[in-house]
Amino acid sequence: MNIAIIGAGPIGGYTAYLLAKAGHAISIYENHSQVGCPIQCTGILTADFDEFNFPMDSYLVNTIDTIEVFTPKQTLAVKQKDYIVDRTRFDTFFVDIAMKEGAQLYLNHSLSRREGKNIIIKDSLSKTEKIITPDIIIGTDGPLSPTAKAYNFYHPQRINFYGIQATVEGTFEPHTIKTYFGKEVCPGLFAWVVPESATMARVGLATTKNTKHYFDQFMHDHHFVAKEIQAGTIPIYHPEQKLQQDNCYLAGDAATYVKATTLGGLVPGLQQARILADCIINGKKYEKEIKSVRQKMWLHLKVHHIFDEFNDDDWDRLVMYVNQPKIQKIFEQHTRDNPIPLVLKSLLKEPRFLRFGKYLFLNS
Ligand SMILES: Cc1cc2nc3c(=O)[nH]c(=O)nc-3n(C[C@H](O)[C@H](O)[C@H](O)COP(=O)(O)OP(=O)(O)OC[C@H]3O[C@@H](n4cnc5c(N)ncnc54)[C@H](O)[C@@H]3O)c2cc1C
Repeated sequence: MNIAIIGAGPIGGYTAYLLAKAGHAISIYENHSQVGCPIQCTGILTADFDEFNFPMDSYLVNTIDTIEVFTPKQTLAVKQKDYIVDRTRFDTFFVDIAMKEGAQLYLNHSLSRREGKNIIIKDSLSKTEKIITPDIIIGTDGPLSPTAKAYNFYHPQRINFYGIQATVEGTFEPHTIKTYFGKEVCPGLFAWVVPESATMARVGLATTKNTKHYFDQFMHDHHFVAKEIQAGTIPIYHPEQKLQQDNCYLAGDAATYVKATTLGGLVPGLQQARILADCIINGKKYEKEIKSVRQKMWLHLKVHHIFDEFNDDDWDRLVMYVNQPKIQKIFEQHTRDNPIPLVLKSLLKEPRFLRFGKYLFLNS
């Protein structure tokens, strides 16, 4: 089949690789002049990334063993393995393996619109348009998904966060991520300090409102000076976002497959890409096969709804509960990309977590 993939991010690149390997004719259209630029990501992957067995030497920047959590009055250190990647090189890795399998990459080419069965691709260098009629079109074109909009199924109630991040110099524990919670620091999420090394870190936060204000405040409070600033939109999972309309499919940020508690979209997006490719190759139903990833996204969304109502005392109390050996052990065994055992086992060992459930009713 002729398959057009819109967006050469990691999810588009990986989908292209799997489909090209299965013998399909793949064209990837990317509106930027270079894959993976500009970077708009901290590049954290949980250890669940190991399930893909990709070689990491071309893009791995650092490995993390500890996550520290700071709430207004409490601190906590959890042992978790994470990887930190360079997003330009990470995205390039996926597009390169897709091209090795025969996929064609068109840089400076963007989806402009749909006209019936055709899509119109605009070449920003030659300022020309071409009409193509693929058998299948896949939108991996990020949070604002022009593809979903062209096919009239971009859900109007999707919620986007806005993230701002700086690279900073300083002295850092090289294998420890630090996260800062509280209404004054970053309402609805957290601020992060993610080391690339002992002397360089990625520092940022994301909110739905006044992001710049909270970012400037955080930078000021920690005496950080930005070497380089990046910013971008991050969707959170929307359970009513359809994944398919006619011959058009969505994956990754375009489909809102981002963990609502941490705004991590890389591992779930790659898991989704693998399922999508399998459905196209083997004639399976995407909406049905995606159920396992969808359940995890749903649980993250529910926990996010609870966190959204938290006051500073709640954050302190949550950290106190997690800061018990019996709970820490669970957090060391299960990553954020595997939240079902993490949440269920924690509830069984510490029923006081249930008191936060009251916030779900405020949101329903
Ligand atoms: C500040 C910040 C920090 C983040 N940190 C993390 C993190 O640490 N870990 C994590 O897992 N996730 C993180 N995320 C989220 C992560 O970046 C996304 O989930 C991930 O990039 C999704 O990949 P994707 O391939 O779906 O989309 P993208 O990476 O957004 O790729 C989409 C591609 O489509 C292209 N495109 C868009 N429109 C068109 C068009 N009309 N025609 C052609 N091409 C088009 C874009 O140029 C882009 O290259 C972060 C996001 C932000 C903003």
